[in-house]
Amino acid sequence: SVLVGVVGVQGDVSEHREAFRRAGEALGIDVETVGIRGSGVVPDCDVIGVPGGESTTISRLLRTEGIDEEVRQHVENGGGTLATCAGLIVLGNTDDDRVESLGVIDADVERNAFGGQRESFEADIDLNGLDKPFHAVFIRAPVVSDVGDDTDVLAELRGDTVAVKQGNVVGTAFHPELTDDHRIHELVLRGYDD
Ligand code: GLN
Repeated sequence: SVLVGVVGVQGDVSEHREAFRRAGEALGIDVETVGIRGSGVVPDCDVIGVPGGESTTISRLLRTEGIDEEVRQHVENGGGTLATCAGLIVLGNTDDDRVESLGVIDADVERNAFGGQRESFEADIDLNGLDKPFHAVFIRAPVVSDVGDDTDVLAELRGDTVAVKQGNVVGTAFHPELTDDHRIHELVLRGYDD
């Protein structure tokens, strides 16, 4: 079976675990999930998820728990990874110095980029690799302002990049765990059939 670990220090951990299980069912892959709250778990995982929440808190906890280097290794080894919202901020590069971003996704990420009245909203977006639009929930969401050569833009919203893919790593500015549509979790699990 495929072991999926969801970084459980903060954020929508149970929703992501459920979404990965459902995505596995849809693909006929036997998925087991585990929460990651300390070091020593990520090395056993085939796939990891880094949820939304507050990127300041998540990055600090990753470091104090010693999970940051394990996550870095996992991504650098090409392990499947889904980083959503604050997770994308933490795995990418942000110039906000309150966040210690890991820089393993070659993307510059701007925190709270929608600001003001548009803090939280929903939008149907087209995503490369999906045949129908995805209903995306944005909550104090970041945008990707620049990507490196190995990183593909998966989706844009009115000119802003809101989803990226780099090998087996998918990053979204929105929250794919908050709807019943698990196609983005499926994207990450593809290729892991036992
Ligand atoms: N605004 C948050 C941050 O910058 C991210 C919000 C979210 O994950 N929903 O960390």
